[in-house]
Amino acid sequence: MGMAEHLARGVKEAAALLAQAEYCIALTGAGVSTESGIPDFRSPGSGLWTRLDPMFFTIESFKADPAQFYRLGQELFAVIKEAEPNDTHIVLGELEKRGLVKAIITQNIDGLHQKGGARRVLEIHGSLESASCIGCGCRVSMEGVIGAVLDGILPPRCSRCGDPLKPDIILFGEAMPPVYQEALLEAEKADCIMVIGSSMQVSPANLLPRYSENLIIINREPTVYDSRARVVLRGNTAPVMRSLLDELELCYGL
Ligand code: NAD
Repeated sequence: MGMAEHLARGVKEAAALLAQAEYCIALTGAGVSTESGIPDFRSPGSGLWTRLDPMFFTIESFKADPAQFYRLGQELFAVIKEAEPNDTHIVLGELEKRGLVKAIITQNIDGLHQKGGARRVLEIHGSLESASCIGCGCRVSMEGVIGAVLDGILPPRCSRCGDPLKPDIILFGEAMPPVYQEALLEAEKADCIMVIGSSMQVSPANLLPRYSENLIIINREPTVYDSRARVVLRGNTAPVMRSLLDELELCYGL
């Protein structure tokens, strides 16, 4: 069987699983946003880790040199701010609207699921919507923080206590936010989990797929969960998600 045929058969199997499922959730990673122009971490050649040291994303390095964090992160924050949702975000929003996906748990910080129409989005690694002071916890909008960075104020500081402001994203070495507990409950409840665009190497997010027997993996490279998945769809997520929606409409009238 050729690759295209294999994929087409996989899409049919995935649609059947989705149509049968009572409570399907999606777990997404940076791979769902590369087609919106945001680099992921680990893709060979284009991943952020080919340019930025992974140490950049640790809380220790932020605390040691917050100005450097903003200097290096500035470009990525600007790309995320301008990015538009692609078909993966849009189709997931549509599946949620039709009741076929109950929640979208995302490791992404880019807000594109919401921009693409999804409503129940659990951002387990936080988001770039706001920033908080690492001293007093005071919260501000990220807009002002980016503005300060563009004005050359590095790092941007809390107007109350003067400590550096950190975007409300979870860096390596930080505790998971309370919404992670909600994500765990969703995974426990789910009878089908779609894992889309994630290498599944970041813990504890990578524990979530273990909660369901019915796993659908959509990724262009192999992942550690492929061997236990019911269906593996190997390809770019946007066209695969579009085919999945077409299949659900054509064959199940959903
Ligand atoms: P990752 O980089 O480890 O894995 C991404 C996976 O997606 C890879 O296996 C890659 O082959 C695949 N992929 C990339 N583009 C794809 C496409 N168009 N179609 C199909 N597959 C594609 O990312 P991860 O597992 O999400 O973990 C990295 C961490 O980085 C996450 O915790 C996330 O918070 C953070 N991050 C977020 C963003 C964002 O918000 N957009 C961007 C970079 C990193």
